Amino acid sequence: MTTELAHLVPYDEAVSRYEPVIGLETHVELGTVTKMFCGCPTTFGLPPNSAVCPVCLGLPGSLPVANRAAIEYTIRIGLALHCTIATWCRFARKNYFYPDMPKNFQISQYDEPLCTNGWLDVTVGGQTFRVGIERVHLEEDTGKSLHIGGATGRIHGADYSLVDYNRAGIPLVEVVTKPITGTGELAAEAARAYVTELRDLLRALDVSDVRMEEGSLRCDVNTSLAPRGAAEWGTRTETKNVNSLRSVERAVRFEIERQAGLLDAGIRVVQETRHFHEDSGTTTAGRSKEEAQDYRYFPEPDLVPVAPPATWVEQIRASLPELPAARRARLQADWGLSDANMTWLRNAGALDLVEQTVAAGAAPAEASKWWLGELATEANKRGIELAELPITPEQVASVTALIGRGTLNDKLARQVLEGVLTGEGDPDAVVAARGLAVVSDEDALAAAVDAAIEARPDVAAKIRDGKTNAVGALIGDVMAATRNRADARRVRELILQRLS
Ligand SMILES: [Zn+2]
Repeated sequence: MTTELAHLVPYDEAVSRYEPVIGLETHVELGTVTKMFCGCPTTFGLPPNSAVCPVCLGLPGSLPVANRAAIEYTIRIGLALHCTIATWCRFARKNYFYPDMPKNFQISQYDEPLCTNGWLDVTVGGQTFRVGIERVHLEEDTGKSLHIGGATGRIHGADYSLVDYNRAGIPLVEVVTKPITGTGELAAEAARAYVTELRDLLRALDVSDVRMEEGSLRCDVNTSLAPRGAAEWGTRTETKNVNSLRSVERAVRFEIERQAGLLDAGIRVVQETRHFHEDSGTTTAGRSKEEAQDYRYFPEPDLVPVAPPATWVEQIRASLPELPAARRARLQADWGLSDANMTWLRNAGALDLVEQTVAAGAAPAEASKWWLGELATEANKRGIELAELPITPEQVASVTALIGRGTLNDKLARQVLEGVLTGEGDPDAVVAARGLAVVSDEDALAAAVDAAIEARPDVAAKIRDGKTNAVGALIGDVMAATRNRADARRVRELILQRLS
């Protein structure tokens, strides 16, 4: 195929001439205690092949039994995505041969998914897109092949391969969107925003740990382009197993740039699966859909149909927690924040932290200020997430309380935060150990003010003549003399009193 040879068209130019259509298939490993069809644990990181049994190894004569918790979790997801829940559906066998799949078939759902026809609202660049959800179905995960000896961990160039079946049989939910149209130049960002929103939703539902880096949330990204105004959509490609939010956006961007290059050159886009490369941000061809195998789906004969009673579904619906979009709207109103600040908090991963800091007694504006300012800078410097900083929301709240009581000013508060972050203890302990409290002793402050006035008779004279702008110099002297531990407003008052 000549598909790799065409030039790339810069993204902005590509989306100005072509209309992108995207689609996302997201696989979510459920956080159930045991696997989908057996009692093996789902714990991540166990020694290879230690969490296996005859059922998940597909040994002859073993029989699967569906995990009720996994079905309940799937219904929770379906309800939160406004789907219709099937009153009766079946699992299906998807037949294919692959070394990491011990039974040589995967138990999945085919034409009878548990949840269908929902939606999820996603906001990008101030615009809200309603993403249609085609289906949410339940299946089992495969094992994991490890390719040893190759440069990149890929099978190509490896000396040998090992298979770990611990993951085989872990319940996996697949959430499939309808084609997402009309996003135009926001297509790549919209894809990322959708996965972000879905991840937040799944986390709120407490059905998965949604760790993309551990593979518990992974995406296949479909992308196609058609000339603007064309009646039909273009041919789509499917980029497999994209496993970070940033990569979702990059994969869509690259496919748009690549496909625009092909179309410009009059070359047709081939329907195929592609692989995304984190290092280069590019995709390369995998297998062509035209040679894709027929999975010979048929209803799984070893399992009874799933027929969730309406009363159970309604119980699950009633137990749904507040969903992320509603929670954000509530917090934004409670806290009186602008859209921009709210987006900033969310992107910084600071929503939970600010909420907990406010719950511990801080004012919302103060809590946001410290998490997004000083602490975000520190997290950045250390290359970690805000939540990973060695400081708790309660500690931040007590710093804001110390400011509120006049014990600390902002400058001193920064030093206290630094002390907490370096392990010197709670804010009170840092204040005591470093002697950081604001000088609130009026006599001591008065003495420092008198000394400053005496040292600069010229400045004092100016202020007496009504040039109050000159007061800054004297305030600076007092602050320096007290090593910034004075309340600057009070110092100003004292100087002006004395020189009036
Ligand atoms: Zn098992």
